[in-house]
Amino acid sequence: MRIEFPNPFASDGVWFKGNLHTHTKRSDGALEPHEVVKRYAEAGYDFLAITDHNKLTLIDEKESCEMLLIPGEEISVGVSEVGTEFHFVAIGIERQWEKPEGMLTKEISPSRLVKEIHSLGGVAILCHPYWSQLTVHDMLSFDGYIAIEIFNTSCHHSIGKGFSTTHWDDLLFRGRFVWGVAVDDAHYHFNEHRPVDICGAWVMVKCRQLTMKDVLEALQHGLFYSSTGPHFMNVHFEGEWVHVETSSVKTITFVSDNGKGERWTAVGKDEITEAHYKLRGGERFLRIECADREGNCAWTNPMRIIAE
Ligand SMILES: [Zn+2]
Ligand SMILES: [Zn+2]
Repeated sequence: MRIEFPNPFASDGVWFKGNLHTHTKRSDGALEPHEVVKRYAEAGYDFLAITDHNKLTLIDEKESCEMLLIPGEEISVGVSEVGTEFHFVAIGIERQWEKPEGMLTKEISPSRLVKEIHSLGGVAILCHPYWSQLTVHDMLSFDGYIAIEIFNTSCHHSIGKGFSTTHWDDLLFRGRFVWGVAVDDAHYHFNEHRPVDICGAWVMVKCRQLTMKDVLEALQHGLFYSSTGPHFMNVHFEGEWVHVETSSVKTITFVSDNGKGERWTAVGKDEITEAHYKLRGGERFLRIECADREGNCAWTNPMRIIAE
């Protein structure tokens, strides 16, 4: 048995915290771009991608608050099985994506858009599959996106459809290895029964330097984990054993194919900070998630298990 895992805990570099999906007043967000940047900088983020709808919002270097600002855009195209649109964030693009003249967005296939994002030098992430009501057939019908949003703060607080981990497992089970990112999709929308959708979910990327090139490469290679609170400290392997160490949490779950996998729960104690899983044989993938007492979660990227 062989485990393929781009293990960020065993790779060189430094951890950087960032959000990859953010709106401003230039589309449907409530804050000016510099106000959004300031809030993320004050919350200790290292990088931020502003991804206004169909618009590349660029921010002056002097308003970056010393964060790395990665150019981005959210683009909606195509028609899903049930008639909804596919939303993508294009991260690291050199210029704004322009809709082909004379075409309706629904006439542009997701596959075409993903190729165009690549030609603009960016990477494509498929947004909020649960909110978009996407099926596994929708997500398998084209290729080239590096990740799906497995958690989206705005979708969570607005309509309770923040988690798309079942969509992720559907893909992984079928051998489509994409990474999972947790994002805010921040609009700075809130009311008396709805918390603000900012600084709630992020990625922790491991790379050598805080440059766009290094962060994008780490994202492409899966050298990151996602969180809404807890931390992963280490993941390592010993023969058929997978060991994980976390910050204090209530549960640590090894998620795998159908009935395989295992959950560790803090039974009879306040918290746990480690868990161990022995591969049973026959697993195709394994990923680890943990949750604290408040329900905040963290997710590693998936490992591919290859029988030999
Ligand atoms: Zn969207
Ligand atoms: Zn959005």
